[in-house]
Amino acid sequence: MLNEIQMAFASITGAKNIAEGLIAARDTGKIAEATASLLARLIEVQSAVLAIQSEQASLQDELARTKKEKLELEEKLAQRVSGAEQFVGYEFAEIAYGNVHAYAQKPDEKGFRKAPYLCATCHSEGKYSVLNFQKATDKHPSRLVCPAVTSHALALPRGAWTAQNLGNPASQS
Ligand SMILES: [Zn+2]
Repeated sequence: MLNEIQMAFASITGAKNIAEGLIAARDTGKIAEATASLLARLIEVQSAVLAIQSEQASLQDELARTKKEKLELEEKLAQRVSGAEQFVGYEFAEIAYGNVHAYAQKPDEKGFRKAPYLCATCHSEGKYSVLNFQKATDKHPSRLVCPAVTSHALALPRGAWTAQNLGNPASQS
């Protein structure tokens, strides 16, 4: 945009010089020549102004877009912060042998991590989702079910699982 402004000023200065020459001139031929040159200068100024206007419009669009993005990011950040507060005291932990991991509170003096256990996949998206224990059936082994997303379910290894003996892998094997 600076370039266009400089061009416009150069054209205006040129036009002023021509106009001054025009006033001094007596010769008809020279007057016609100067008038044509003056018109050309005016057209240059006009096109420079148009270029400035279109550049300004695109800058305004960009500014509006940037402002909108900033708002969206601020909203996301606020959500993340309030999400993070829900997880204070929780840590990623093995709650059943066989690599079954969830977010759980710090272990008690006996080394047990008590329920609730939180879905790690939902946690990574900032969502608080308590896993529900589901006893084995003919169709599936015991598992922890995420109420938010079915595919987040964690299958537990074969064993006599109850909702109470989760939370301490050392005592399970
Ligand atoms: Zn989940």
